[in-house]
Amino acid sequence: MTKVYLKRKIATRIANGHPWIYGNEIDTTDGDIVPGDIVEVYFYDKKFVGKGYINPQSQIAVRLLTRRKEEINDAFFLKRIQQAWQYRQRLGYSENCRLVFGEADYLPALVIDKFNDYFVIQTLSLGIDKWKDAIVAALETLFKPKGIYERNDVPVRELEGLSQQKGWLTTPGETEIIIRENGLQFLVDIENGQKTGFFLDQQHNRRAIQPLVKGADVLGAFTYTGSFEVHAAHYGAKSVLGIDISEQAVAQANKNAALNGLADTCKFEAMNAFDVLKQWDKDNRKFDVVMLDPPAFTKSRESIGKAVNGYKEINLRGMKLVKNGGFLVTSSCTNLVSPELFLQTINEAAKDAKRKIRQVCFQSQSNDHPIIWGMENTNYLKFLIVEVTTL
Ligand code: SAH
Repeated sequence: MTKVYLKRKIATRIANGHPWIYGNEIDTTDGDIVPGDIVEVYFYDKKFVGKGYINPQSQIAVRLLTRRKEEINDAFFLKRIQQAWQYRQRLGYSENCRLVFGEADYLPALVIDKFNDYFVIQTLSLGIDKWKDAIVAALETLFKPKGIYERNDVPVRELEGLSQQKGWLTTPGETEIIIRENGLQFLVDIENGQKTGFFLDQQHNRRAIQPLVKGADVLGAFTYTGSFEVHAAHYGAKSVLGIDISEQAVAQANKNAALNGLADTCKFEAMNAFDVLKQWDKDNRKFDVVMLDPPAFTKSRESIGKAVNGYKEINLRGMKLVKNGGFLVTSSCTNLVSPELFLQTINEAAKDAKRKIRQVCFQSQSNDHPIIWGMENTNYLKFLIVEVTTL
């Protein structure tokens, strides 16, 4: 097997357990480099680091799969996926969950969402893509699924020399399925929905709004499938208005409200949140609770500043629409904006909006998306509730 030797001076990150090795951390190699193949990695002093897959075309040249001298084969993937499932079951998940959360499950660049009997997978690097058949076989062994769908229509694959593609990896099944969450039902479009079709990462955050929304007039912006808004209506809100720029998302969100018998209280409209929140502030419209869940405003370090401005702007607008003593429920899903930076941004938005805020809760993604300290990209979601009062 091809061996990769690291430079004498490498980031402590690798020694501390991080699975990524950048191209400029490699000193020499011994053997043929076949993109996507498994290699053995050693420190400069020939001490064993682990085994992983290599792709010289990617900035992340090697992603480690194991720190042990074990065989990487079909059985390895079966075992890892089985461990990921046992972990979720221990945390109380049964029907729907992120079954594999990449690096946090020691399966770099692999995402698997379980929607009851259906599975949606993403293989986001060449090295993991090569094991797709093994991954599908493992899911079939463990779950006897009704279908496994690949949502590899993501640009990041191109950095690895992979094409964007989507489709069934098993005999075709339903592409619109219904899942249950917190006692409600949601339509999931695994073929054309965003990402894998449903944002499982906010599941426990959706429960967190329960005490705030009873009897409230609620506004939700960036609603997608309307999951937060349908929860708000279910938890006793007087009225819920959800807005999203995508007509398709709005149609799906309205269907989800109807599916749960909540269409009378919970309505969705296609609008640009930035424009409409500004206008409604001018019109002096007010809500008891405003919920914001914008998309990642940036995917690159160069544009963090722009993203922060976006978060500040939309949160400032959101706060201004909150009645005195009401609540702002706000999220950020980009890992490039750290929790500290996010809170600082909300604080600045409050100052500019001339509002006083008090933190009710601040948390991250649901437990099926474990966080590994030191692997920043595993700690990506910020979910904050603040009480908003006028100065
Ligand atoms: N809250 C959702 C996830 C939101 S994803 C959930 O829990 O499922 C972000 C959403 O923001 C997408 O649906 C996207 O269509 C929408 N969006 C992006 N830009 C927007 C804008 N300027 N105004 C309103 N919605 C926008």
